[in-house]
Amino acid sequence: MDDPIGTLNRPVSPVVLTRPGHSISRQDIDPNALKVVFRLHRLGFTAYITGGAVRDLLLGRPAKDFDVVTNARPGQIKKRFGNAYVIGRRFRLVHVHFSGGKAIEVATFRRAVDRLEEPAPDSENPPPSPYGTPEEDAFRRDITINALFYDVINDAVLDYVGGLEDLASKTVRVVGDPAERFTEDPVRVWRVLRHAARLEFAVEEEAGREIPVHAHLIAACSGARLYEELNKDLAYETKPVMEALRKFGILRHILGGTGEKYETDAGLFSELSSILEAVDRAKLEGVPLSLAEMYAAIFWPWARPLFEDSGVDFQKILNDAFRDARIQVNVPRSLRADFNQILIIVAAMERALHTGKMRWSLMRRPLFNGATRLHFLIFKSRPPARDESFESLFRQAFPSGGPERRRRRRRRKRPPPEPAGGAST
Ligand code: ATP
Ligand code: MG
Repeated sequence: MDDPIGTLNRPVSPVVLTRPGHSISRQDIDPNALKVVFRLHRLGFTAYITGGAVRDLLLGRPAKDFDVVTNARPGQIKKRFGNAYVIGRRFRLVHVHFSGGKAIEVATFRRAVDRLEEPAPDSENPPPSPYGTPEEDAFRRDITINALFYDVINDAVLDYVGGLEDLASKTVRVVGDPAERFTEDPVRVWRVLRHAARLEFAVEEEAGREIPVHAHLIAACSGARLYEELNKDLAYETKPVMEALRKFGILRHILGGTGEKYETDAGLFSELSSILEAVDRAKLEGVPLSLAEMYAAIFWPWARPLFEDSGVDFQKILNDAFRDARIQVNVPRSLRADFNQILIIVAAMERALHTGKMRWSLMRRPLFNGATRLHFLIFKSRPPARDESFESLFRQAFPSGGPERRRRRRRRKRPPPEPAGGAST
């Protein structure tokens, strides 16, 4: 392959792979995505399935989300689909909604104009149109294996960038010049490492050399984008990606002081790795872990020492520690409140199993079940079985109920006080 990623400016015709040359079957594709594609086709537009779904299906893995790409403009799609909503500030996308709360993301083919992100310099020169051809759309994507199109109508895979060869040789290759593409959008450094780690692919040599050079630029990306990217790592296999991010010194650029601690303290990171191994396994088995539980999982080893003093205001201690860590990922306030709660409950559970004293009022907190799940994953490396709960663990450790329970039982035996007669509560 002379120029697999075509840094050239001449038009490239795609490699077209028809059946039985590829292994994608329409049956593997989300029926809603098929509906969108067929409808666009009937309306006279071109529409393909693209991104991670094509990659995963060609690898024989189940696909997660089915992105559709088309030459129809967002406004045209909205006008023709009653259930379509235009979203996005940076790039306008359309979400076509279906019953059951499901949505298919439909993007219009676009060119590499990531610099549109910057404010328009003056109104006399409006920014160039972001839209482009299928070929331009393939070339603006991050890595070759993510830039394949599946043409449902002709049952063919279209490859403008050498992605099929890279899938075959298990290579993560940046589309275009790695240094340029990383400078343009440093988040791509993270994405390259994510896909290589998840798929157990090798990073192409030049990209590999450029990763350490550009890694620090990630810290300057917007916290909102970093949050989106981190959530992708937390949604599927998390452990291999966190290990790769640590190896390349990227944790400190996304998780600030917390990430730095994980990079410099091997013991602490190995604690995190064990937790993530259990978490990843549980997820594969279908255990539903919320985003708050995932955030609590990644922060637990770092936060654990903060709970060593007792009788202090853990909420405040956690808030102060997070402030001091200067985490670059912009974690929404409500999510932070939730995973702080989970951390506090997990710590209370662990303390109770040693002291026999539990604040049972915590059971009334809505996040108690999530905290129980995480407690099992952290301390038993597995989720709770159907008949297990934190109480069952506690009863095993303290069959007589523990000091606090005994005291309570004694209290309950006392005769009830005389009615006070007043309204004091
Ligand atoms: P996942 O399995 O994690 O969903 P994905 O490949 O679908 O992986 P997404 O983050 O869902 O990744 O993005 C969808 C597609 O958008 C990618 O496959 C890629 O083609 C393109 N893309 C996403 N982020 C970038 C980026 N920063 N630069 C260029 N292309 C990108
Ligand atoms: Mg995706």
